[in-house]
Amino acid sequence: METPRRSGPIPVIQQLPVQQPQVDPNQERKERKINTLLSRFTEQGVYDENFAEYEESSCCICLEDFKTAVQGTVGITKVKRCGHMFHTACIKSWLTSSKTILTKDPRCPLCNLSIKEAG
Ligand SMILES: [Zn+2]
Ligand SMILES: [Zn+2]
Repeated sequence: METPRRSGPIPVIQQLPVQQPQVDPNQERKERKINTLLSRFTEQGVYDENFAEYEESSCCICLEDFKTAVQGTVGITKVKRCGHMFHTACIKSWLTSSKTILTKDPRCPLCNLSIKEAG
C-alpha cells in the first residue's frame, strides 16, 4: 500500500555565509588575551537593580553614568583586585588600544593597579 506523500523537496533555508571583516591577526591575538584576562580577573555582569549597591556610578573610560544604561543590556566588568567597574565594551577597547595587554601587565584604567593578581 502506498502512503500519499507530498511531492517536491522540502525547502531548506540556506544560511548565507557571514561576511567576516578582515581581522588583523595581532588584533585577534589581543582579543583572545583580553577575554582570558577578563574571565580570570574580573567579574562580568549586566546593569540591573542590584547595580545600585556598587559604589561607582560612572564608567571612567567613557565617563557615562551607568544609570543611563538600559537595565540588563549593558555588560559591566568589575576588576576583582580593586573593585573598579567599567562598561565591558569600554574596558575591552581600552585594553585593545593599550600596549600593556601584550606586556603581560595590564592595569586598571582608573587606579593603575595591575589587573592580574600577584603570584
Ligand atoms: Zn564606558
Ligand atoms: Zn582600579
